[in-house]
Amino acid sequence: MKMLRFWRPLSILLILSQIIQFQSAHAEKTTVRVQLENRPASYLRSYDSLGVIYVSISDYASYFSLPFANNPLREKIEVRLPSHRIKATAENPYLVITDINTNVASVYQLPVNVLCMDSLYYVPAATFVRLVERLAPSGISFSAGYRLLTKGLVAPAPKFDITGISLEEKRNGYLLTIKASRKLGDFDAFLKPDGWLFVTIADARADTAALSRFKTGQVLRRLLTFQSPTSVQLTFQLSRDVAEIDPLLDENSNDLLISLHTKREIEQADLEKKQRDEMRERLEQRRSEAKLDVIVIDAGHGGKDPGTIGVRGVREKDVTLGIALRLGKLIERNLKGVKVVYTRKTDTFVELDRRAQIANEANGKLFVSIHCNSTERKPSSANGFEIYLLRPGKTENAIRIAEVENAAIGYETDQERYKKLTEENFILVTMRQSAFAKYSERFAEIAATDMAKHLKIQNSGVKQAGFYVLVGASMPNVLVETGYLSNRTEERVLKSAQGQERIAKALFQGIKDYKVEYEQAVSEGRNPAGQGR
Ligand SMILES: [Zn+2]
Repeated sequence: MKMLRFWRPLSILLILSQIIQFQSAHAEKTTVRVQLENRPASYLRSYDSLGVIYVSISDYASYFSLPFANNPLREKIEVRLPSHRIKATAENPYLVITDINTNVASVYQLPVNVLCMDSLYYVPAATFVRLVERLAPSGISFSAGYRLLTKGLVAPAPKFDITGISLEEKRNGYLLTIKASRKLGDFDAFLKPDGWLFVTIADARADTAALSRFKTGQVLRRLLTFQSPTSVQLTFQLSRDVAEIDPLLDENSNDLLISLHTKREIEQADLEKKQRDEMRERLEQRRSEAKLDVIVIDAGHGGKDPGTIGVRGVREKDVTLGIALRLGKLIERNLKGVKVVYTRKTDTFVELDRRAQIANEANGKLFVSIHCNSTERKPSSANGFEIYLLRPGKTENAIRIAEVENAAIGYETDQERYKKLTEENFILVTMRQSAFAKYSERFAEIAATDMAKHLKIQNSGVKQAGFYVLVGASMPNVLVETGYLSNRTEERVLKSAQGQERIAKALFQGIKDYKVEYEQAVSEGRNPAGQGR
């Protein structure tokens, strides 16, 4: 679309300048095209001052290979024709013409002064070309209408630029066409609230007779034309139903197209925009759901609940907090845009169901509960990590581990609320979890693989058991038994800063790999949980 410039202030200035007859200051830069046979078109620097086209003498002389001499001190320029010299002086209407053979000089008066702009001398093109033709005939003529210098006669520029108007009903309003016979320059279109539309077009002449033949009607009720020397103003009285206009210079024709938008159409467009915005919002929401951007880390036990106690007295609650904080730091440092939410960051007691509640309130996308394992008899050689999904326990060992972890409710004051988690209810609860079950499974698989690789131990696979802490979490969730405190060697590792850091790094790798796979799958429109099976 062509840029619309508002020129009204300029046009007012032009009219004023005409009144006070202050000429040279209002010359506008332009060009005159030279088009001769067997030569590419060229342009001469020119000025348009109130309709008079001035051309640069030196540009003219250069183009036609005429010698010229500039005398800036005396503000004079001299051009040499085969038999004459023409001398022009700035701000002076007299040209001195000297016959080279006889050395006889005569004076020729131009209708206006010679213009001097940026050390170039400009003469009125039409008069100057006629004069040169008289002194050295070559068949060159100048057309002010086309701003063209060429050989032979040039057809005069058309008398009118604005040749008519038309109005069409469109699916969404009306189209007012102002027909033009040439490319229009600056224009201004302005609709007043009372339905009057003012269209002003610079440097144009309207065919008022043709315009007056337009049949007015319900939409376009009246048309007035005002022609000034420098512009034409078309004034339309439109139906009050027209609330907005949208003017545009048609690139495929010379016409000025003005779309007239009715109130109903605008309301319809607003409604459609609202619907589009809502759809975009929904898409954005879906996109945000597709991002794994909140990870909840649950350090098992805490406060009055120490968890299991190691052979040498290491408490589970201290190990889980250490790993949880290290894991959180790794995520915060390495996964941009991911928020880490902790169920606890200090040695405090947090109820089991409160932990899932914290995760849900934070709109978590993954819940990782961190624990340490133990055998009934200790010390023992049992070792390694285990990753659990929330399902009714299958093996005796899994059921026993869940019982140990669930025993944390023994520290809670209100134990009634867990009573509803009978065996049967538990199956219902886990079914409710089935929405994220596949994601939980996929994360557990990835985490198990990564942990085995990083900790250089055998991957014993993903297990399942009924952990209360996972029950209420409305997001993919797993419980990680990071190692056995009942094993002397592992107890030492779990207690040490390096050991905790290594486990945190292994878990971090699992989370990172799962995030990449999940988001990639969502962005490609695949089911993120449907991989690797
Ligand atoms: Zn535990």
